[in-house]
Amino acid sequence: MSVSINSILDRVRREPPIQLPTDFNTWYLYAKLPQIRYTALVTTLLYLIYSVVEYQIVADYHIERFWLHAVLVPITMATVGILTHMPKHHRAMLMLLLLAPIAANAVNVYLNLDSGHFSYFSPELYLSIMWTFAISGLRLRHALLSALISCGIILLASFSAKLPTDFFWLHLMWLFSAFSFGFVSALVLEKVHHTLYEKHMELAALASHDPLTQLWNREKMAMLFNDENQRAIEQDSSISLIMLDIDHFKVVNDVHGHETGDIVLQHFADILQHNVRKQDHIGRFGGEEFVIILPHTTGAEALQVAQKLQQRISQYQFPTVGRKTASIGVTEARYAHEPLSQLMRRADVALYQAKESGRNCVMFVAKELASA
Ligand code: GH3
Ligand code: MG
Ligand code: MG
Repeated sequence: MSVSINSILDRVRREPPIQLPTDFNTWYLYAKLPQIRYTALVTTLLYLIYSVVEYQIVADYHIERFWLHAVLVPITMATVGILTHMPKHHRAMLMLLLLAPIAANAVNVYLNLDSGHFSYFSPELYLSIMWTFAISGLRLRHALLSALISCGIILLASFSAKLPTDFFWLHLMWLFSAFSFGFVSALVLEKVHHTLYEKHMELAALASHDPLTQLWNREKMAMLFNDENQRAIEQDSSISLIMLDIDHFKVVNDVHGHETGDIVLQHFADILQHNVRKQDHIGRFGGEEFVIILPHTTGAEALQVAQKLQQRISQYQFPTVGRKTASIGVTEARYAHEPLSQLMRRADVALYQAKESGRNCVMFVAKELASA
């Protein structure tokens, strides 16, 4: 299957970016959910078929076999499949997935070990051990726990049963092989996923940061704004936006060179980071243009923050170039769900007014005024 970079970029542009979990455990679980879902579906169907086949062949324990293979296992696995869609119940889902093969194996040895036809039924045990490790979608440590308990039960029952000696040793051999292959598969799968996770995080960091200043880039700021907007609606609080543009920055490049310009931009980013709260989000939106999202902040409060920033910037001694100033536009979200683009347009109007008023100043465009 070949996937072109253009088709990926098209999809990214069409669909809103999704915030993926950042800790490995949750990330891995989300990566495994489709596997758990489809495995649960196939296992449900196979046990239903198995119960029909078994009914034709086996003469004893009909009722027990029916309840286990046609009712209990299919219902358990169908429940697992349904729970994959319910994040609140993922713990219960994993618990069922861990316990189901133990129960199936315990009942198998109970029903079949002394039947004289155990060799017909033992493949389910070996398959079940492999299933637990490599197919179920369980994490290695959970699969290991489940498989160890299953093997413990199978071994205890096998040692106490009177199995023919040659079959007994073969049975142990197949059990040991199933455990070994299963364990190695689960170990390798988990290691590969760990590498994938690290690469994914590296790419996510690269895709969300401005490489020069390490501030958020435009795409990440849009995602952060959506999250903050949602929270503001839930908590009935306000959001404000500050837009900053360094004054006469072109002169820095023209007089001192591009490298000095880059250093000024980095120092400028540092000033912003040291003078806003932890919960505020700072992004670089273009050459020498910066945006700050201030959650839980009214326009009046944002105006004060902007004035403090203007002062700090104008007093700062930048390397090589000395003093620089910035023009600043401030605005507040007008209503819930107001898009970032609209808020940016108003902040841009305020910034333009600041430039027109002689630079090195802060302008505020209120929500009411902007609608005119
Ligand atoms: P104004 O006060 O009107 O904002 O004037 P200005 O000179 O700051 O604005 P202008 O838009 O004319 O120039 C912006 C300059 O920023 C031009 C461009 O070379 C420079 N620039 C953009 N990105 C970078 C960058 O990453 N590094 C450096 N060193 N310079 C950059
Ligand atoms: Mg500019
Ligand atoms: Mg400028």
